Amino acid sequence: MHAWTGVVSRAVRKTRGFIRVCAPIDPETRAVLATRWGGLPEHIRTDAQTLGRMAVGCEGTHGVFPRCNFTCTPCYHSRDANHVRVDGAHTVAEVERQMAFARSVRGPHAHTQLIGGEVSLLDPEDHAEALAVMRRYGREPMSFTHGDFDYEYLERLALGPDGRRRFKRLSFAGHFDTTMRGRRGLRRASSEADLNPYRQAFCDMFRRLRAEHGIHFFLAHNITVTPGNVAEIPDIVRSCRTMGFNMCSFQPAAFVGDERRWKEDYRALAADEIWAKIEEGAGTSLPFRILQTGDERCNRTAFGYYVGERWFPVLDETDPSDLAARDALFNDLGGIHWGAPKSLLVARLIRLVITHPRLIVTSLSWFGRRLHHSGGTMVVLRALLRREIAPMTFVMHRFMHADDVRPAWELLERGEMSDEPRIRETQERLQSCFYAMAHPETGRLVPACVQHSVLDPAENAQLVIDLPLPRVRSKSRSESTHGRS
Ligand code: SF4
Repeated sequence: MHAWTGVVSRAVRKTRGFIRVCAPIDPETRAVLATRWGGLPEHIRTDAQTLGRMAVGCEGTHGVFPRCNFTCTPCYHSRDANHVRVDGAHTVAEVERQMAFARSVRGPHAHTQLIGGEVSLLDPEDHAEALAVMRRYGREPMSFTHGDFDYEYLERLALGPDGRRRFKRLSFAGHFDTTMRGRRGLRRASSEADLNPYRQAFCDMFRRLRAEHGIHFFLAHNITVTPGNVAEIPDIVRSCRTMGFNMCSFQPAAFVGDERRWKEDYRALAADEIWAKIEEGAGTSLPFRILQTGDERCNRTAFGYYVGERWFPVLDETDPSDLAARDALFNDLGGIHWGAPKSLLVARLIRLVITHPRLIVTSLSWFGRRLHHSGGTMVVLRALLRREIAPMTFVMHRFMHADDVRPAWELLERGEMSDEPRIRETQERLQSCFYAMAHPETGRLVPACVQHSVLDPAENAQLVIDLPLPRVRSKSRSESTHGRS
């Protein structure tokens, strides 16, 4: 009798655990999304807003490896960044601290950038450990790099010392543009087209990794946009289409970071002009209002896919059926963890469909519309066979100028809103920020703009003391010393 009671209670416990884990949306995720939504300024709480409904926003690390071996113009890092030693133990410990805090306030899942100086200056073991820490806290990590490393580095990152793969999938953002200085073989590119072989070589390393070790990848292409390269955007977009990138992200340059590296008038860059150039490259208009990511003045995102040379949006902002599909996505699927293991995700979706059967009709009719817009079944099948269908998201993220962020933040810290239009706009954007950095020491998350404009200088000055560069004795001094002895 006693043994049976134990068996039954264990079975009940397991069933309850199974039911909990198969809950389509984690209750904690639901709660953090609701808190995020409730804290957003009124002007961005639109029907299209993903923040607080689909996502809590992106995260990035800071102060974990500030150093870089390129000299780009502009550079968002403070002038002290390059005087800080790359130190794997510091990186891993600091990533752990920041991720633990992010996990505690932003819930079990988020996309997080392993970012700072140049990530490939980390020893591959330390880089791998940092990624593992991020995953342990439910963060989907993306490593940010200038892409100037060899396949050997990537392989040592991806495989453990025993030769077995550490990760099923890696995500990287590779930054390639003419503002950069220091790439091996092309210290200074005179045109964006000069960089195409380097962009391609970067993607090919990941293709090789997949072929040799079965490790999948997601690659984003990052570009700093300046008055000097804005005209080349259409060619960049066209060139990147087949390389292996699934995201093209454009960041108009801002007056932030090391002022010695500011070369042009970045205030001359207009958002509409840049977006029009991206559209010219994509060969079509790029709808960014049907799914908004924070404040439109900060972010524009167009989610879609290529079928051959043509790009199509996942949702058409002029189609009422697609607007209804978007609403269903937010209302019924908002907060679902799409990165969950496949079997778990399928179990959750089945449960969701049982309770919301209309999702089947909504999904099928959405799929039918995509097929129709993409040219019909035969065109899509042919493109599939030729491997000419590829997801591609276009992003524009406009960091703000430090001279605007500093006073805007100071006022926000005092609970005041400015009457000056430019500072007011900056404040509204900071309040709507989609991209935050964790500060466990103060118990706060801050917008990346505040990190770079306000906090980085003091943080890096402290890191110079904590992690000084090794002293190098100059040759002449060394020789003269030898001469005296
Ligand atoms: S406030 Fe700054 S970091 Fe945040 S989304 Fe806007 S531009 Fe990006």
